[in-house]
Amino acid sequence: MNAAILTIGDELLQGFTVDTNSSWLGQILLPYDIHIRKKISVGDDVEAIKIQVQNLIDSKLDYIFVTGGLGPTHDDTTKEAFRQLFDDEYYLDEDYYQLLKSRFEKRIKKMPENNKSQAMVLKQADSIPNENGSALGLHYHKNESHIFIMPGVPGEMKGMVNNHIIPGFLKKTPQAKQVTIKTAGVMESKLAEQVQDLIEEYKSTFKFAFLPHYTGVSFRINLLDTTANLKQVSEKFTKAMAPFAYGLNEDKLEEVLGQALRKKNLTIATAESCTGGLIGKRLSDVGGSSKYYAGTVTAYSNEVKQSVLGVLPETLDKFGAVSSEVALEMAKGIREKTQADIGLATTGISGPTGGTKTKPVGLVYIALITPQNSKVKQYNLNFGRKIHREMTATAALNITRLSLNE
Ligand code: ATP
Repeated sequence: MNAAILTIGDELLQGFTVDTNSSWLGQILLPYDIHIRKKISVGDDVEAIKIQVQNLIDSKLDYIFVTGGLGPTHDDTTKEAFRQLFDDEYYLDEDYYQLLKSRFEKRIKKMPENNKSQAMVLKQADSIPNENGSALGLHYHKNESHIFIMPGVPGEMKGMVNNHIIPGFLKKTPQAKQVTIKTAGVMESKLAEQVQDLIEEYKSTFKFAFLPHYTGVSFRINLLDTTANLKQVSEKFTKAMAPFAYGLNEDKLEEVLGQALRKKNLTIATAESCTGGLIGKRLSDVGGSSKYYAGTVTAYSNEVKQSVLGVLPETLDKFGAVSSEVALEMAKGIREKTQADIGLATTGISGPTGGTKTKPVGLVYIALITPQNSKVKQYNLNFGRKIHREMTATAALNITRLSLNE
């Protein structure tokens, strides 16, 4: 089924707000076989909204999702645009008005007169409840198109979709039509080589796409022929992408690593220089990670490397802070300090300054010490400071994941 998203708000056009509503909607609607054909943003302007909505209705779409401009202030023009376009009429939803008033009174506040407009609803539309805010949503059914009009605030919009629009109007397709295999530690071209025969074999029944990102390459498989077996084919591709494939769809590297650590009953601790705590953040983002994650020491200065992690001054003098020797001593130090089974450490030059001829910006060492062995990997990831840190954290998590399979 075909759909469009219309996002409304001057702030979207001026760039003060990034339109995350439409990317969220595009993804959440896919399992319901709803494909977004158009995404449009307009300002808080009644005429512009009317023109765009009319165009979308003329395009004979099954669904039109509208977000933004439902609030009580003068720049919230969406409801008025629909009233004019459909020659509709306002009326006061007395029950909702009383509910709004009592909500305000509970907080010992008098409701501002402005908010009364939120209880003004439109005759031809059904109201969509809002559990997370005060603006009601609207639902019109016009010329075979369902039009859902929701607040711009992402949490309110998501609540309406999850609690009312999905249960009330949408049906999941019996079989998933798409799967994404997540990989780390491999370049797109190498991955393509590993699966080129499989792509050739299945290209008439599936559509394939490589989606490279600096934290890993995702590989998307879309079903073209509904009689084909997506699960079986995705398993074949996952196998062919070994050892780089770590999960599917929403899986995160740190979650997969966490599961592997739990399974093996192992604990880990990190010592981070250039990543500044990013690995620790990602590991601790996972609920229940205290079972296997001891913590991180952000050892940015040489003093902390020595005093907290026990890196030897001679090692720092002889090899410099960015060296495989220091990385290994950091990993050893954190492992001993925390008594964790695994010590993981990073030291590198994220830039933009700090590089030399022999140690350029982007150079990084990742050391890993496990009960079985110790290793250190050297990379050159010169893509800017932020990406350097993100890529280093991903590489470190991935090296650890791979070592658990050895
Ligand atoms: P309110 O009752 O808060 O006025 P509203 O429906 O009028 O809700 P807007 O005023 O358009 O919504 O936007 C409210 C906030 O929601 C904005 O400050 C903005 O940060 C956020 N927002 C609006 N549209 C989007 C969008 N498409 N993507 C992400 N955030 C958005």
